[in-house]
Amino acid sequence: MLVDETKCVACGNCIDYCPMNAISLTAECAAVDQAECVECGVCLRSECCPTGALYRPELNYPRDIACFFSDPEATHPSTDVPGRGTEEMKTNEVTGRFPPGMAAIAIELGRPGIGTRFTDVEKVARAMAEFGVEFEPQNPVTALMIDKRAGTLPDDLKPVKVLSAIVEFGAPLEKVPAILQRLKEVEGELETVFSLDLAARVPEDGSLPFAGLELPYPLSINGKTNVGLGKPRFRE
Ligand code: SF4
Ligand code: SF4
Repeated sequence: MLVDETKCVACGNCIDYCPMNAISLTAECAAVDQAECVECGVCLRSECCPTGALYRPELNYPRDIACFFSDPEATHPSTDVPGRGTEEMKTNEVTGRFPPGMAAIAIELGRPGIGTRFTDVEKVARAMAEFGVEFEPQNPVTALMIDKRAGTLPDDLKPVKVLSAIVEFGAPLEKVPAILQRLKEVEGELETVFSLDLAARVPEDGSLPFAGLELPYPLSINGKTNVGLGKPRFRE
């Protein structure tokens, strides 16, 4: 996002609308810190500017990537999904992607107020790739990877900041404790926050998946019953 200096009257209305604190003000004009702006579009959509001084120029790579991950009205071209560009498997797992014995893991990096750079996204992806995980193909972070087995991202993308990005993958249940332990080791290197989603089918005996395992994160049990909405294609 940019400010047209010829239109800005330095009223300061836009300052509090920015979830990344990317807008600053002098006596003459507002300015957007391009390193902190994630192109979420909140300032524009709120119509907070009385003079129309805020505007979004044409975005080219890699800045357009920030918009795809941060603006809920932008649709990610790799997945055709708006917002963060993925139908997270934690809430939409009706496709049978994870048969018995497999876990779905999503690591959601960044939040309004802090965001995340792809440097941190790659740190997490590379650490998870050490376990030979299968990154979710319908996920825009996966689509950006230059090596999907190693979890690496393009160098010119790494400094780009986005509101939030999700690393998603599937892994055998027995690998989950070691994978989460590795995530625990990496978390101290991250300059952002993340939330961790862990999903699996409830076994036929009704026992809770993951209960009784030694995990480095506390479990918060949430159940979801697939009642046939969506397009269930369960595999046996
Ligand atoms: S696009 Fe978003 S991050 Fe950028 S200045 Fe506007 S509100 Fe702030
Ligand atoms: S709301 Fe518009 S006119 Fe007021 S400081 Fe922000 S950009 Fe300038």
